[in-house]
Amino acid sequence: MDAEFFRAWLTEAGTVIEAQRDHLTQLDAAIGDADHGINLARGFSAIATALDQTATPTPGSVLILAGSTLISKVGGASGPLYGMALRQAGKSLGDTAEADLIALAASLEAALAGVQKLGAAREGEKTMVDALAPAVGALQQAISDGADATVALAAAAGAVAEGALATISMQALKGRASYLGPRSVGHEDPGAASTAIIMGALRDVARQLAP
Ligand code: ADP
Ligand code: MG
Repeated sequence: MDAEFFRAWLTEAGTVIEAQRDHLTQLDAAIGDADHGINLARGFSAIATALDQTATPTPGSVLILAGSTLISKVGGASGPLYGMALRQAGKSLGDTAEADLIALAASLEAALAGVQKLGAAREGEKTMVDALAPAVGALQQAISDGADATVALAAAAGAVAEGALATISMQALKGRASYLGPRSVGHEDPGAASTAIIMGALRDVARQLAP
């Protein structure tokens, strides 16, 4: 998976986020401040512009530019958290021109560690961590089962989607939704839903571009 692959992923993620912008914002309206779709649509559009204007020869440089862009352009909790995730993933890829599945799994693990370092959320607290953590586990399992990239990323995307839906029954203990206490139960976490979209885009791009 080369730099082109990672640019294609972020472009596809941006397209789906734009299409799901109102849905994400509605999820945030239920338990937050109704800006999650707006925040991410703005952020991914800024990523597209930055990638157009900047040379990014390696997968790591693509992800680091994307993460820095989110940090500088998106307010709210999700900009810094996703920005940290992408930057840590990019750093973990180093300056390799071609990331294999094992490197990709390690970068996803680094992304999760970055989010948890910044946001201090554990699994079960109704945040994007509840979507990202199962993805890391599923990807590692798929690799040890000998799956190729297409199959492994489909497994990861499936685990993320399940993880996002599992947030419905959780009470939020981190972020703005935690202010609602028990009233946060019964709604899908917007950040977990957007993580599912982003990982779904990774699965789809792997399906389209895998050799
Ligand atoms: P804000 O809450 O500042 O309005 P957004 O609406 O863009 O920011 O993003 C909200 C999402 O951010 C939540 O749904 C949750 O997934 C995620 N989030 C908030 N706080 C944390 C945290 N401490 N750790 C991990 N994720 C968090
Ligand atoms: Mg919000």
